[in-house]
Amino acid sequence: MKIENDLKLPEDMKKCVTFHGHLCPGLTYGYIVAKAAVSLLKLDNRSEDEEVVAICENDSCAVDAFQSILGTTAGKGNLIINNYGKNVYTVIKRNTQTAYRFSRKTSYTYSGENKEEFAKLDSAISSKKASETERNRHRHLKTMDLLSKPFDEVFESAKVEFKMPAYAPLARSESCACCNEMTMKTLMKTDGQNRLVCIPCHEKE
Ligand SMILES: [Zn+2]
Ligand SMILES: [Zn+2]
Repeated sequence: MKIENDLKLPEDMKKCVTFHGHLCPGLTYGYIVAKAAVSLLKLDNRSEDEEVVAICENDSCAVDAFQSILGTTAGKGNLIINNYGKNVYTVIKRNTQTAYRFSRKTSYTYSGENKEEFAKLDSAISSKKASETERNRHRHLKTMDLLSKPFDEVFESAKVEFKMPAYAPLARSESCACCNEMTMKTLMKTDGQNRLVCIPCHEKE
């Protein structure tokens, strides 16, 4: 996607946008939390393996900022999504055994320079009359505002007890006795005939 020139986004935020596909407030929330985690936990590189783990308590756009900034990715098993619909994120660093939990404090209020414009766009959006351009402008204003707010105004950060999440399980795959598709053995179920089957086949039984 093209990143508007009028937006003075940090370079690593631009990378998040490229990865995610669009600029949006959800991604921005994830970005500011990931950046806070980098500084509090003194992380210097994107996680190559599983030395950093992120636990997201929602499955919103924010998750993609963690994947981009921290290298905690769905495929490596160091991104855990517990979808409670909460604006809460925990970032864990294994080698120093430290963990921080970030929790959003309040609902959003715009505090930038374009208050009137933002309020107009806001009401156009709530009455479902906003055009695509207006929705984009609204997102941009909100993003820039979020990036300019002091982090502590938006999120509560707390050092929490380090708990080691289990490493991503590696297991052999076997073919499902029902559909024959290769399936990780540890995720297979036993059916009525005592055969190993995949979860979708087990649910169909
Ligand atoms: Zn998004
Ligand atoms: Zn199957």
